[in-house]
Amino acid sequence: MINEIAPNIFNISLLSREAIKSEEQVLCYKNGKVLMKTLEDKFLIPKKNELGEWVTEGILLGEVDGEKCFIAEGKDKMPQGFEYVGMRDIRGQSDKLFKWVTAVGFHLFSWISDNKFCGRCGSSMEFKENERALKCTSCKNIIFPKLSPAIIVAITKGDKLLLAKNKLHPGSFYSLIAGYVEAGETIEETVKREVMEEVGINVKNIRYYKSQPWPFSSSLMLGFFAEYDGDKPIKVDGIELSHADWFDADNLPEIPNKDSVAGEMIRIFREKNKI
Ligand SMILES: [Zn+2]
Repeated sequence: MINEIAPNIFNISLLSREAIKSEEQVLCYKNGKVLMKTLEDKFLIPKKNELGEWVTEGILLGEVDGEKCFIAEGKDKMPQGFEYVGMRDIRGQSDKLFKWVTAVGFHLFSWISDNKFCGRCGSSMEFKENERALKCTSCKNIIFPKLSPAIIVAITKGDKLLLAKNKLHPGSFYSLIAGYVEAGETIEETVKREVMEEVGINVKNIRYYKSQPWPFSSSLMLGFFAEYDGDKPIKVDGIELSHADWFDADNLPEIPNKDSVAGEMIRIFREKNKI
């Protein structure tokens, strides 16, 4: 999975504004994209000395293998030899550590940008001293990073797996049923509700598998395996999904890559059930 970067170490820091030193890396975000140095088909995180006075100060993101890395707001005009790259293209790169640091920076930068002012009194926000949070300079309202828990579930029926095509996802790939946890709901209840809403079936024997932070949508994915229960046929909601069906391990449609917990879970099913 994209977040499994061992043996590299990425320690996220408390938020602080600092002058960036010449050899330190800085991720500059603008309109959902990030500034990258381009080298043929590879992207590299720019260093301060490559950007000169284009960026001087940043927010400390953390240490990547002991080296400080910063996030900052990008400007409209790009320095020569650099370009703004969308998160989808970042995910297309092969270097896991690069992808992960850029993604976590994107998550935190988006949260800070979306909370420049207090939603309660309208005053400006500042970094809280002793934890990763923003604090209102006037009414002391505290805002923690946006993190939306979401379930993702691999439902089996004998030796078949339920896969669905999401209307919003570009391309033709199929994935698992997923959805956000509602206020006042346990994650097991979310599994049952989302499955019923999206494909109209009941599930039993719900087993937790593992979690995965998904910075691109400020989510924490919670993976489950479950079994089909009852005799209802699949009834696709038509809102989020355009098609869903039971698939054999040897006849899967296009599936997500191994970056996501969904991709990993589908491959576990395939290994277990292939002939
Ligand atoms: Zn306030």
